[in-house]
Amino acid sequence: MKVTLLAYTQINPALEQLPADLVAGRGSPQEDIIEFAARVCYRSTARMGHSPEFIAARIREGHEDIIEHGQATYFIEGISRACSHQLVRHRIASFSQESQRYTELGENAEFVVPDAIANNPQARQVWDDLITRLEDAYREFRKLGVRKEDARFLLPNAATTSLVLSMNFRSLRHFFWLRCDRAAQWEIRDVATEMLRLIYPIAPIIFRDIVDKYGLHDVIGNGRERLAA
Ligand SMILES: Cc1cc2nc3c(=O)[nH]c(=O)nc-3n(C[C@H](O)[C@H](O)[C@H](O)COP(=O)(O)OP(=O)(O)OC[C@H]3O[C@@H](n4cnc5c(N)ncnc54)[C@H](O)[C@@H]3O)c2cc1C
Repeated sequence: MKVTLLAYTQINPALEQLPADLVAGRGSPQEDIIEFAARVCYRSTARMGHSPEFIAARIREGHEDIIEHGQATYFIEGISRACSHQLVRHRIASFSQESQRYTELGENAEFVVPDAIANNPQARQVWDDLITRLEDAYREFRKLGVRKEDARFLLPNAATTSLVLSMNFRSLRHFFWLRCDRAAQWEIRDVATEMLRLIYPIAPIIFRDIVDKYGLHDVIGNGRERLAA
């Protein structure tokens, strides 16, 4: 599995700065946009505190539309179809996923093998036998003129896939709360934790409570220093 943070919200470089009376500007550029949106609502001043406390307080009280103004786009490669099926259940997001209708099962087809199977020699043997038969059957179908969109019916949940995913920060927070939790299945938890690790240094104020709650400081590392400053 590989996760790449492709893009995230930036302040328009053509603007010299956000209006100084509306943003304390002690957050990252992404956090400054969010602080700006909140201060537009309240026409608030320093009496309401400064970023990061100001933004953290708005999130705590449930004024979460402001964090919808931050967005991240990820490229996620080499996850199982079992995992991608769970990912796409998150409706407040945008997805573009590799199609099994249009792409052929490659010569070196890849499948995600759970550790519980990979580390059990007998289970691994059963797995290898079945995957070999599936691959052979898929290729036989193709030789017989069966279209990819039909041959793919053979493919298991373990078949790997890639997708591009975009979520705004509000939706990402909801996603992390659900999927970084130990109750989440291991593969989507690994994906979610890696996504959090990548976005955390960009907007630590927005995601700090999640890192704290799940004790992910060792995994996340980078990004906490600026908060402490
Ligand atoms: C540990 C765990 C186990 C799970 N097990 C199962 C399972 O066995 N079977 C299964 O089918 N799913 C299961 N799920 C998936 C789960 O039910 C959700 O579909 C998934 O987590 C997406 O969450 P969401 O709907 O909150 O997110 P999103 O779709 O991103 O929605 C975000 C929020 O928007 C609001 N919202 C969105 N759409 C609607 C709507 N139509 N009506 C009202 N409010 C809406 C809700 O407040 C929702 O929380 C599981 C999830 C987890 C984390």
